[in-house]
Amino acid sequence: MIHLRTAEEMDVMARGGAIIAGLLEELPAHIRPGISTASIDAFCERYITSHEGAVPAFKGLYGFAGSVCISLNQEVVHGIPSPKRILVEGDIVSVDVGVRLDGWCSDSAWTYPVGEVSEAANALLRVTERALDAAVEAAVAGRHVGDIGAAVVKTVEGTGYGIIKELVGHGVGRDVHEEPQVPNIGRPGHGPLLRVGMVLAIEPMLSAGSPGIRTLRDGWTVVTVDGALTAHFEHTVGITAQGPLILTALPRPVGAGSRSE
Ligand code: MG
Ligand code: MG
Repeated sequence: MIHLRTAEEMDVMARGGAIIAGLLEELPAHIRPGISTASIDAFCERYITSHEGAVPAFKGLYGFAGSVCISLNQEVVHGIPSPKRILVEGDIVSVDVGVRLDGWCSDSAWTYPVGEVSEAANALLRVTERALDAAVEAAVAGRHVGDIGAAVVKTVEGTGYGIIKELVGHGVGRDVHEEPQVPNIGRPGHGPLLRVGMVLAIEPMLSAGSPGIRTLRDGWTVVTVDGALTAHFEHTVGITAQGPLILTALPRPVGAGSRSE
């Protein structure tokens, strides 16, 4: 069942989402060669729980051990933080964060360069972020879930990158993962109708090689079969009468006005 949320419920998710946005903005100052993924996890947990009532939504979810998922290079998602996993100059690292606040969830992910990275890695990050932007813009009431995936496909066309098809975005609400599934491929006008009140985690995942994936023996970490670099960007987005509203963004400063470009 696809739930429709009130503006008040979206406001709570936006408060949790702003905690994630603040964390994702602070992470670049923390991410550097030589630190472990466990130390990033501890930083994230401290940051989240320093906000009254907020807890890391992924901790214990389906038995996950970390507070956040941290995936390096060829790892797509669900990397388990570890003190033995040390960042190296040139890595790219994706940090996927869920927050539960007052019973409502928000979900966002970002992929960061570690020190100086290759031009190929930078290009992958840029295109994946652009795919997220395009997908969010397509989340308009009256259109369909397939329009979101189609926007990802259109952005990626001609780049040679693979779209990870076996992993999808999802509804977000009382639970982190709700209906509907939000694939990163699709056809305009196909799939469930987008309606005011739907809240979706939109999360393109791209591979610099082929899109095939497999899960490591740890039962969690999903990697590209060919070992190609991957990137993952995600926002939780509310569908409103005024258009898509990113709930995992920092609140705009009062008086700042809207961006005009
Ligand atoms: Mg996520
Ligand atoms: Mg998600």
